[in-house]
Amino acid sequence: MAHIVKNIAELVGHTPLFEFVRLEEKYGLKATVLGKLEYFNPSGSIKDRTALNMLLDAEEKGLIKPGDTIVEDTSGNTGIGLAAFAASRGYKLKIFLEEDQSIERRKILKAYGADVMFTSQVPRIKEAKEAGIFSMAFYQKAIEEYCAAQETKHFFINQMSNESNPNVHYSTTGPEIWNDADGKVDILVATAGTGGTITGLSKFFKEKNPDIRIVAVQADKKSRTGSSDNPKTIDGIAPFYGDDIRNEYKAPFMVSFEYDECIEVSGEDTYSTGRDIARTEGIFLGQSAAAAMVAAKQVAQRPENEGKNIVVILADNGMKYLSTQMYDK
Ligand code: PMP
Repeated sequence: MAHIVKNIAELVGHTPLFEFVRLEEKYGLKATVLGKLEYFNPSGSIKDRTALNMLLDAEEKGLIKPGDTIVEDTSGNTGIGLAAFAASRGYKLKIFLEEDQSIERRKILKAYGADVMFTSQVPRIKEAKEAGIFSMAFYQKAIEEYCAAQETKHFFINQMSNESNPNVHYSTTGPEIWNDADGKVDILVATAGTGGTITGLSKFFKEKNPDIRIVAVQADKKSRTGSSDNPKTIDGIAPFYGDDIRNEYKAPFMVSFEYDECIEVSGEDTYSTGRDIARTEGIFLGQSAAAAMVAAKQVAQRPENEGKNIVVILADNGMKYLSTQMYDK
């Protein structure tokens, strides 16, 4: 029977669960490390799931129709996913991006026909940043006001508080992992940006088995996006734990997701682990994926985890980071 794909929406999800056999052998890991290779999604990241689900839900609720302009605030991957689906479904797209994200993200967005603006070009955000009065609620309100002030309809799809974001991981990413691992999942390792992935997965796995341990990974202080003194930052993710991380800085899901342990990783370890995995396994990881693998290796070395299955969420691959010091050596 012929099997011909007619729309990129059909290519979202059902990504492979890959065992890092060579890495396990090289480092004598006690646990099995299974990576969910999310770069197999059509625009190359886990955020395709979120982007498509948010669009489908908004369409179903009659909030948008082809020809409308969709607006989003993103560190890149959600924007890239939205740009691909907007193109294939007949929407225009305006993306607000932080200036410090890798150049590849900007170029890919433009290739799909999206209109890219820096957040600092929104007058109220610029003023707030200069005055140091940043909060997530303020930021979202400023974009909402920007949308309302436009002559044509601008729909702010807002992954930060859109329930379709975590819901898609609860309904697709989690069940795919569960089925592919045949229900043998002991530990989940994931990073967080909006917190959508970990919110949906944590809920799914805790319902399946409350003993499944959720390990959430964040960049250490000097490796966070925006750190001016360190070129080795980890793009696409945000911190959620620590004295300096106030709730008003965080996206709503980042305040509420459930986890058992937070592991902080450095940009240096992330970059060297990314290069090591490319050369050991032939798997070319993006920054957050490599950061998750730094944590997964640590967890896999613990004697109490002997024989356990660790599932690691690998959000994207290395293509968008070729210009960074991770691979530009
Ligand atoms: N890794 C990368 C590369 C990302 O772009 C994102 C989303 N910004 C994440 C991880 C985190 O995903 P989430 O927004 O679901 O927390």
